[in-house]
Amino acid sequence: MKRLPLTVPLGHREAPSDFLSRLAVRNCIRDMRTLAHDLHLDVQAVICGESAALARLAEAGAADQAALEREAFAGSPRGISIFHRAHKFSRTIQLTRNQVRICPACFREDLDAQSFQAEARPYRRAHWIISQIKTCERHHLALAPLGGWPPPASRSIRALSLRAPYACCRSSRPRPSNAR
Ligand SMILES: [Zn+2]
Repeated sequence: MKRLPLTVPLGHREAPSDFLSRLAVRNCIRDMRTLAHDLHLDVQAVICGESAALARLAEAGAADQAALEREAFAGSPRGISIFHRAHKFSRTIQLTRNQVRICPACFREDLDAQSFQAEARPYRRAHWIISQIKTCERHHLALAPLGGWPPPASRSIRALSLRAPYACCRSSRPRPSNAR
């Protein structure tokens, strides 16, 4: 596996699929699925936290494999339960599958912390995907949903990429519900 020409620093507590998504943006590739195809990576294996896939992702993105593994939401694609940091969650009830939530202050810090293209800078902390988590533990701000994303057809963990923050960078207006 060759290292990508451009990389982003793996964020503290960033989920592997979000990292893959940001790498795609950083390398001007349309989306994470296209990048995964180019890297001969199985996106579902990345999402499910399979070690072999995360090892390849770590190599391509110059990231720490163990850090990626810690933040993966592991479980079979069709399974009801999913595991994150040794906690068991219901995929349908306890994870925010139809919404991306961010801390506005973290978002601002991420934008200010790097100099590469803005769309690839902010990242979601993996635990913000858990429904019970309502606030940012650093800033004590309520997690804010990014409106209209993902579209209903994409309601799965794989859709919880950082495309919504990218949209937020460009415009504060909600995306239409059928946006891709
Ligand atoms: Zn925050």
